[in-house]
Amino acid sequence: MRRPRPTSTRDPRRPPRDFASPPADPDEPSAPPAPAVLSTSSPAADSGARAILRKGRARPLWFGHPWVYANALERVDGGGAAPGDVVSLFDHDGRFIGRGLYNPRSQIPVRLCTRHDEPVNAAFFRRRVAEARALRARLGLPSQRTTAYRLINSEGDDLPGLVVDVYGDAAAVQVTTLGMWQRRAEIFDAVEAELGCRTLYEVAAAGYADVEGFVSASRIARGESRPSVPCLEDGIRLEVEPLSGQKTGMYIDQRETRARVGQLAAGARVLDCYAYAGGFALAAARAGARAVTAVDSSSRAISRIEAHAAANGAAGVIQAVENDAFRFLETATPRSFDLVVVDPPKFARARKDLDAARKGYERLNALALGVCAPGAVLVTCSCSQNMDAVEHERIVAAGAKAASRTVRIFERRGAAPDHPLPPGFTEGQYLKVLFAVILS
Ligand code: SAH
Repeated sequence: MRRPRPTSTRDPRRPPRDFASPPADPDEPSAPPAPAVLSTSSPAADSGARAILRKGRARPLWFGHPWVYANALERVDGGGAAPGDVVSLFDHDGRFIGRGLYNPRSQIPVRLCTRHDEPVNAAFFRRRVAEARALRARLGLPSQRTTAYRLINSEGDDLPGLVVDVYGDAAAVQVTTLGMWQRRAEIFDAVEAELGCRTLYEVAAAGYADVEGFVSASRIARGESRPSVPCLEDGIRLEVEPLSGQKTGMYIDQRETRARVGQLAAGARVLDCYAYAGGFALAAARAGARAVTAVDSSSRAISRIEAHAAANGAAGVIQAVENDAFRFLETATPRSFDLVVVDPPKFARARKDLDAARKGYERLNALALGVCAPGAVLVTCSCSQNMDAVEHERIVAAGAKAASRTVRIFERRGAAPDHPLPPGFTEGQYLKVLFAVILS
């Protein structure tokens, strides 16, 4: 069945209220945990059920938004739709919109994975993974210089709740919705068939699993058992540990920003705060930075930075410091760095944290500006999905005022291109990066 053309998409009396609903955080769900874990034996089903939207709530979906919030769903007809099943979605007038994964326990009970009336089965996953791979190939990924990239970016690849990151000859799969979890054997098959990878890791997403009602565990799902895999980012040699690292092992989303930092680093005294495995520090060192200090509070991250520095011939340039970033900045010599990166974990996990998060970001930016020499560049990031780019920029302005520094923003960035999103899906735009030059 083809999707009929919507007739009321330009009705100004019907604002896309879905956008104003509380979003589900992409990294940390804000919904309360489900009371119990659902049966692990229920098979994934392609139900005949029809999910019907409330009147006036279809507009964002017609325009490509992939989520149905609970307050936009009127009812589910056709009976028997179990959590995790595929349902068909219709607007209030009975027009077919698409098909998606159903979970009544979630704040987002339907997530679309197709705009066609088609089965969501093994062949579907195989097709989706092949399409995703073709897009990455268009983006030049993988290449001889870069073998770490995101193959599947959840809603951006019409596979809501599925992330697949590729590290050299391995892939790390992370599942965050019950529907994907029930279908993970088919997903593993599709990824294996498409990539032929040597190790396939499954990486747990405990917060999501609690909300969605499944149990997730990190493990080797297929292939050779090994704790880490070598890969390249822009020619830099990295060793990624999907089962014990953060995210699926690496922050792939910052790849292009790391390369850009490299372009600004020659001869500079560089500070990489919240360095994790040292991505920014390594890019700066490779580009000829005079000295690089990499700060992280995790001892595991510090060992990783040191190993990466050694593997890339940068041990003499990069100094890894295990410390809280605030404490480091408070005691560092003022105005002693020419290039400063701050890439903190998200401070605003939920809306109620926003005020405290704003204060934290403002203080962090003020402290980071305090260690910038005149003429230095500050690269300041936020991955709090609850705070948008405008707000992030305001916070940088407030930090500059608090530090009595004058700055000019010359670049604004987000996640790398292998993190595509549907247009208008602002919930997915979590990463904001500003480049500022310090005038005085
Ligand atoms: N810049 C990194 C990603 C940073 S992720 C990259 O390009 O890969 C955030 C990092 O902040 C994590 O490594 C975490 O260990 C570290 N972290 C969390 N709280 C911290 C704190 N208070 N002080 C310093 N580092 C912290």
